Amino acid sequence: MTKLNICVLPGDGIGPEVTKEAVRILRFVAESQGYDFRFTERAIGGTAIRQFGSALPQETVETCVKSNAVLLGAVGSPEFDSLPSKEKPEAGLLGIRKALGGFANLRPAKAYPAIADCSPIKAEVLGKADIMFVRELLGGLYFGQPRGFEGNRDSAFNTMRYSVEEIERVGRVAFELARKRKKKVTSVDKANVLEVSQLWREVITMLGKEYPDVKLDHMYVDACSMRLITHPTTFDVVLTENLFGDILTDEAAALCGSLGMLSSATIGGNIDLYEPVHGSAPDIAGKGIANPLGAIASAAMMLRHTAKLEDDARDIEDAIREVLEAGYRTADLAKPKSKWVLSTSDMGKMVENKLSEALDRRRAYHAV
Ligand code: NAD
Repeated sequence: MTKLNICVLPGDGIGPEVTKEAVRILRFVAESQGYDFRFTERAIGGTAIRQFGSALPQETVETCVKSNAVLLGAVGSPEFDSLPSKEKPEAGLLGIRKALGGFANLRPAKAYPAIADCSPIKAEVLGKADIMFVRELLGGLYFGQPRGFEGNRDSAFNTMRYSVEEIERVGRVAFELARKRKKKVTSVDKANVLEVSQLWREVITMLGKEYPDVKLDHMYVDACSMRLITHPTTFDVVLTENLFGDILTDEAAALCGSLGMLSSATIGGNIDLYEPVHGSAPDIAGKGIANPLGAIASAAMMLRHTAKLEDDARDIEDAIREVLEAGYRTADLAKPKSKWVLSTSDMGKMVENKLSEALDRRRAYHAV
């Protein structure tokens, strides 16, 4: 798809700073490849409360649902901390996720050897770990009914529930992704204790028969949490239900060295949503020092999953790797010996430069 209508929701804090750089890269790809990408910016979160009195104005929802993809920065601002949950900036994020309807949350955890010294894991253990988490996002314990408190709040309960259909549809996303990667799916459950997990395992095992080219492993969630730290390079695609995925993806994120590096996609619904994993980082907002690479990598995911422009997605990811290999860092990645510590916008420009070099190389190659 070379024509894309992209709704950009910069949001709060560092959200506008990092999305600006992601849009810079998308514009550069469009201009140099002759694609037609159109951007419409809308308000969400605290910015939207200030402007429109609501964290998710109707106009924002309407523009998003008419787009091909949504690129979000981050929401959240301390000035709204005292508001009830339903009125906080974060309510805008939950609302837009619901409106777009994605059920599969993709979160890559990729180790860049150039910044291995930022990871709490030893470089030789971390290696070139490259894990793609596929987390079910609309079911399980977070949404199961019934739920609530009982008596005089002297007990409380939640329900973990999955239907065969819900398991199968997210399972398919994982197997399809694995086919384009190292052809391995690790399905995470707690089948030794939970009936939901026993059903999960049965359904995924059956589904696996449709993908004989993909190796399927099952792993208990407790074992998986340990193995992520001790043997991160042994994973390819990790498939999890909602709660386990919430916890494991944050654990894996720590492997990568900085929250600012992490990208995500939420797919499977009406419109795909792309966002860096980090929040609005009020402590560094406005200083021009935020790391934009997670937002830029989210833009690469958009080109891969929504636009099916695999080569361009890969070029962006290669440019990120090359920038890091050349020694450029944002403040969150910097060490006392780091030579080049760049601002948010200079990091964006540096990725653009590397991308431009890659495209020139590709053109020169095709010209001979
Ligand atoms: P955070 O992710 O905003 O920040 C945590 C720490 O990581 C901070 O020290 C911050 O400076 C640093 N950090 C985050 N992103 C960075 C980047 N790109 N470059 C460099 N450093 C970066 O999490 P928090 O402080 O717990 O939350 C702040 C606000 O963001 C809260 O209002 C929270 O609700 C909201 N939040 C929003 C999202 C989202 O929009 N998806 C996610 C998490 C938190």
